[in-house]
Amino acid sequence: MEKYDVIVVGAGNGGLCAATTCAKAGYRVLLLEKHNLPGGCATSFVRGRFEFEPSLHELCDESTNPRMRSMKQIYADLGIDTKFLREEMLYRVICKGPNGYDYRIRAGKEGFLDSMEEACPGSRAPLNTMFELNYLFDAAQIYMDDCGGVSGMNPITLITKYGDFIRAAGNSTDKFLDALGMDDKTKSLTNTYWGYLGDPPRDLNAMHFISLLAAYVEGKPSMPYDRSHGMSLAAVKALQNYGGEVWYNSEVTEFLYDEEGAAIGVVANDEKIYAKKIISNVIPNNVLNLSDNKFVKKSMRKLANARKLGMSIITVYLGLDCTMEELGVDDYSVFVVKDPDANVQYDQRKDMGLYIVNCLNKTIPDASPEGTCMLFFTIPSFDGDFPENLKPQDYKKYKNALAEKYIRDYEELLGIDIMSHIEEISVATPVTFARYLSTPNGTIYGYMSQSWDNVINRTVFKDLENKVKNMRFCGGHSLRGDGYPSGFITGEMMANEIIAELKEGK
Ligand SMILES: Cc1cc2nc3c(=O)[nH]c(=O)nc-3n(C[C@H](O)[C@H](O)[C@H](O)COP(=O)(O)OP(=O)(O)OC[C@H]3O[C@@H](n4cnc5c(N)ncnc54)[C@H](O)[C@@H]3O)c2cc1C
Repeated sequence: MEKYDVIVVGAGNGGLCAATTCAKAGYRVLLLEKHNLPGGCATSFVRGRFEFEPSLHELCDESTNPRMRSMKQIYADLGIDTKFLREEMLYRVICKGPNGYDYRIRAGKEGFLDSMEEACPGSRAPLNTMFELNYLFDAAQIYMDDCGGVSGMNPITLITKYGDFIRAAGNSTDKFLDALGMDDKTKSLTNTYWGYLGDPPRDLNAMHFISLLAAYVEGKPSMPYDRSHGMSLAAVKALQNYGGEVWYNSEVTEFLYDEEGAAIGVVANDEKIYAKKIISNVIPNNVLNLSDNKFVKKSMRKLANARKLGMSIITVYLGLDCTMEELGVDDYSVFVVKDPDANVQYDQRKDMGLYIVNCLNKTIPDASPEGTCMLFFTIPSFDGDFPENLKPQDYKKYKNALAEKYIRDYEELLGIDIMSHIEEISVATPVTFARYLSTPNGTIYGYMSQSWDNVINRTVFKDLENKVKNMRFCGGHSLRGDGYPSGFITGEMMANEIIAELKEGK
């Protein structure tokens, strides 16, 4: 007999939420994590007297859809106790060059519309239409959920009631914003968040982008006071309170199946561990590589191979021996772009097309010791951007030169001195993320949101995703795309599906 009802593999946001949800429902749960601490991306690391936030720039509630449970609701329901601090400023965006600009855009719908109108007179009307359409898209998604899948939907209702949704759903962000009659400058400022989703607006699905933007604007971004590591520890505590077990230093090296191809367990620490259900927070590509080929359906391998891996990132973490005021920094999130056109920013990404600089002390004043502050540079990196023939002995030199290039650029842009204040520095690249998360090419975002493979399509064709009996996938590579909230939402969603099956004795 199986010792566990559910084994969850990977203690990232998705795995933590899935495991805690199953344990809360009274099931015997084992969470297996290859590292000696939980969180995956949602962790922290310490250098000298600084505790760095390695991944999170800002949290949003994922969606304005009233049916969509926010991450914070999920947390509260699971008894995960964490304090969040909200940001009033969405971002500052500095565009270099002759057509350059420098604007601060406020959070909150009215604040956003006001600051956009100040920057781009006449932008209020199309932006308002964008928010109104987003509510319609939320309503259409609720209708689709209620129909329980494609077969339950009435095409006439879809067309008559949600016609704008049908018209917009398959389009790119560029086409959508053009259809609203937005001028180039408004588009440029609105598109600032493209880097958070990893696709240029000419390819980025409009629904995905608009719902993310609206969620950030209306919900206002926030940060966990205790760093992401504090959030992850709080989730483990809740899991253990419900009787769940966590094994650290326990890498799953094989997924086990019965003769019919149903998941029955895993191998970790050279031990076979069996359960009725498996939830994987590990990307399907890796699960396939850790499974005997004869048990894996061809369609699942085809789907994993057809998908494009999501972006990775280069990050420069700095602990400085001066306060942010002494440094001359007054913003939490600054987007620096080389060209106003977000598609050009993407095309020029290897040449400083876009980078983001965060100063955690703006949102969490005591995030670092008194008299100090922290900066965090983020540079998107896509498949093929990282030099393939880089030799191990040249790696440090390469990443240090890269860090210096971006730090010098920012110094020059703001007229500040960062270099002489650096007390601690750490530089992470796709190699770091590949090693830490075990993801192919160091993807931090699972799979790209492509026109055939975006949140809408993945949701509508959800049943095609779960091709393995007794197994589900949750996390940034799952139905809802990347990001902290997606991890929690899919963790809860998949756990609830598994709980329903267990209740029915399936
Ligand atoms: C630099 C950076 C900036 C980001 N900024 C933001 C942001 O501002 N806002 C936002 O919402 N999102 C952001 N993200 C994205 C977000 O962090 C991820 O999408 C999300 O945390 C992924 O969660 P996940 O549930 O998929 O798990 P992951 O974090 O991918 O964790 C998976 C876990 O599985 C473990 N594991 C892997 N293989 C095995 C195995 N074989 N056996 C056992 N354990 C295994 C790993 O060790 C890891 O702990 C950022 C990410 C990075 C790296």
